[in-house]
Amino acid sequence: MMEGHRLDPADWDAFSEALEDAARACADRLRHARDLPWQPPPPDMADRVALDEVAAGDPGVIDAILRDIVPYSTGNTHPRFFGWVHGTGTPLGVAAEMIAAAMNANMGGRDQGGAHVERAVLSWLHRVAGWPPDASGLLTTGTSQATILALSCARMRAFPKVREQGIGALPPLRVYAAEGAHSCVKKALEVMGHGSVALRGISAPGGRMDVDALSQAIAEDRAEGWSPLAVVGTVGSVNLGTFDDLSALADLCAAEDLWLHADAAFGFWTRLADLPWRDLSVGIERADSLATDFHKWMSVPYDCGAVLIRDHDLHLSTFRERPAYLSEGQALAGGEWWATDYGFDLSRGFRALKVWATIRGLGTDALGAQITDNCRQAAYMGELAEASDVLDLAAPVVSNLCVIRPRRGEAAAIAAELQLSGDAVFSTTLVDGVSCLRAAIVNHRTTRADVERAVRAVEQVIRSA
Ligand SMILES: *Cc1c(COP(=O)(O)O)cnc(C)c1O
Repeated sequence: MMEGHRLDPADWDAFSEALEDAARACADRLRHARDLPWQPPPPDMADRVALDEVAAGDPGVIDAILRDIVPYSTGNTHPRFFGWVHGTGTPLGVAAEMIAAAMNANMGGRDQGGAHVERAVLSWLHRVAGWPPDASGLLTTGTSQATILALSCARMRAFPKVREQGIGALPPLRVYAAEGAHSCVKKALEVMGHGSVALRGISAPGGRMDVDALSQAIAEDRAEGWSPLAVVGTVGSVNLGTFDDLSALADLCAAEDLWLHADAAFGFWTRLADLPWRDLSVGIERADSLATDFHKWMSVPYDCGAVLIRDHDLHLSTFRERPAYLSEGQALAGGEWWATDYGFDLSRGFRALKVWATIRGLGTDALGAQITDNCRQAAYMGELAEASDVLDLAAPVVSNLCVIRPRRGEAAAIAAELQLSGDAVFSTTLVDGVSCLRAAIVNHRTTRADVERAVRAVEQVIRSA
């Protein structure tokens, strides 16, 4: 092969055909998702994919992907996958990903159409959140990254010299979150250099942060020389799907001059649902920052999340850095909105396209109806558990999570058996120290019949043990 042609196909017609075949295989996989539950990787998986002799290249690599890799995914495209909080993705998202890859846009900056697409997504998010149109934000890999960006802005507001001086010049900081808040908050504080001591867990009876206990903790910390920085409100807890009282947290943060961050990774999307779920996050319109995920309940293919920052200037001052080779100019070097000014990635993919296509292509009526369906399905699963003679409902169903306590047997063993049989995927959690089966329904393929079948399968495993 010749210079300038080494990495493009030698035969474009053959390539187009191969691409069409691959596209058809992808569409078939999604069309038949119901027949394709989780498959554990075969024992020789590592050998199959090892990159030992690669000098010559493998013209059959697309077939190898379809044969050796595709079947062994986690199965979150299947309608009875309820484990953790894994999004299902959509066929439209697959198409958008392919087109984005063909454009190969680097979304760090520059004057390009994609920047307008990302800003359109952020504006839409501001409206869903009930925030003013001049607020800021950025698409991220997920809520974990969004949390680091949000808490960095909080720190910048309290300590405007932190970028030059570093954290050695700061008093010991404290951030508050409900016990059981997602581990990404702890990790963010560790990455930011404050250590996990900077996180103080507040008791959360019934899954809701105790606001009096929070107020007391802040007073105690101030008296002991800590510098309270922020409160993280949980908008949909991973354990039980519960929501903190954001209005009460916003009042307290206003009185104490603290930053209010909302971890709304999946719970944010109840704002598109019917009542009563739509009102679960009331108060989020008053938060200073918010993190959410598109790759969970919005069915956008992995990965994409978002951070919203209310104060646009503060957001810029926290991250903007333009060395000479990135300085503003004309044409491609122009454009007023550069994503890299709002986060720490310079090179970034065109995640915005699959999100934009999902919102525009599927529409908020359908997306909202699906969120409502999932909440109803979780409630139905709760009813079935309550009516069962081998199961108990471990906690009230608030949104799309249902946690079931088996009266006999080990939850982990039951979950493993169901995963291996392909009947259903539950994950497990502890409620009051007892191991339970947990279903987080963020799945647009799930039906009531799937919920019933999954619960019957659990009962069957317990009875036959
Ligand atoms: C999933 C989740 C996170 C972490 O988000 P990633 O997108 O996985 O980084 C944080 N908080 C909650 C409540 C979550 O459900």
